[in-house]
Amino acid sequence: MTYRFHGAPQLARLSLEVESTATELRVRASGPGALRYAGHTRFYFASLKRMRPIAILEDGSRILSLYYPPVPSAAHARVFEDYLRTWVLHDRAPVAVTIGVTHACQCTCVHCSAGGMNAGGNGRAAQLTTAEMRRVVAESVDIGVANVTFTGGEPLLRPDLDELVAAVPADKAVAQVFTNALLLDADRTAELKAAGLHAAQMSLDAPDADEHDALRGVAGAFDAVRQGVRHARAAGLFVGLSTYATNESVRAGHLTRIAALAAQWGVHELTVFDVLPAGRLLGRTDLLLTDGSRRLLLDEAAALNRRFGGRPHVITQAWTNCGRGFARLIGCLAGNCQFHVTASGDFAPCDFTPLAIGNVRRESVGELWRRTVEHPAYRKHSNACRMQSAAFRARYIDPIPEGAPLPYPIDELPPV
Ligand code: SF4
Repeated sequence: MTYRFHGAPQLARLSLEVESTATELRVRASGPGALRYAGHTRFYFASLKRMRPIAILEDGSRILSLYYPPVPSAAHARVFEDYLRTWVLHDRAPVAVTIGVTHACQCTCVHCSAGGMNAGGNGRAAQLTTAEMRRVVAESVDIGVANVTFTGGEPLLRPDLDELVAAVPADKAVAQVFTNALLLDADRTAELKAAGLHAAQMSLDAPDADEHDALRGVAGAFDAVRQGVRHARAAGLFVGLSTYATNESVRAGHLTRIAALAAQWGVHELTVFDVLPAGRLLGRTDLLLTDGSRRLLLDEAAALNRRFGGRPHVITQAWTNCGRGFARLIGCLAGNCQFHVTASGDFAPCDFTPLAIGNVRRESVGELWRRTVEHPAYRKHSNACRMQSAAFRARYIDPIPEGAPLPYPIDELPPV
């Protein structure tokens, strides 16, 4: 497949031939720009070649992660273009958006990252209409986004979710949904697949049914995930599980047990977030992972990836924030390669950060992205999670007035 680039005039005369087979990924650059970008192209594709594919599609393209379009594909060409714009041209371009499509949810998770965040922050409680959501998708894709992730609340409670998925242009981006699976039956998975959904990610908080149900506040939530995985696979979707690690769950070996369930159920990828002092846990910095827990997680994930041979692929936030190898390009996603829009249209740097840059009802997504990357909090790349940084929290999170609706306008924080 030929990759051509349209997002920056400097890249207009560069082209790449990218070819993938069951055993090989080949890349050849041509055009007057080839030499200038040769080092970055080599580093980027060498990193991809080292990743074991989760799946190889019929046309030979490979799925390396559910967060990533197939390689090669027109959508992946945009990811590579975002990389060159960000790292070579210093014109930071976002790869991904998470969109909280509804405030509503059937669960009452103790760790909910949307707790408070999605409650209609800043008095703008009305949810975005279908047309407004479609505009958010279109404007996000226009500025470089190649992965549109629908979250909530519980996104399947939104009756127009199919329409929103269908609004993601398949030649430019992949669409995925994060769900608690309570409504993910055979009909809904088939509808979402027909609308163009790439992957369904389901939250699994613990390897034991009773513990998962207790953490979610809903009896039967564990079983819903098991059934949801079955339906999603039958519909031909890629399937992910997402969980979060605490110091206790690391010590108790939860990751290995959840990965074993993922393997048994035929899941493609397992994502492990750090427990974050965000949402309902906003003040709980006492829960932060220790360096020791992080090391154990990294070792355990590496051992699991060796044991399962890449399926399920285990990806941890401990790795994306480790600042080594390919992870150096990822780091803290907020304002680096990702942003979040709440159901009320508030534009936040990420779905765990209770700060609003503005609202998509008043400004375009492109303008809000530009203001994010120019803001002192986000101007520089950070490998480490800002929401886990004592310095960041002291400046931007601790001064949020008690009881204020979230996300709180970043421009209304007291000056330093
Ligand atoms: S602050 Fe950065 S690393 Fe932390 S959750 Fe948000 S995007 Fe991820």
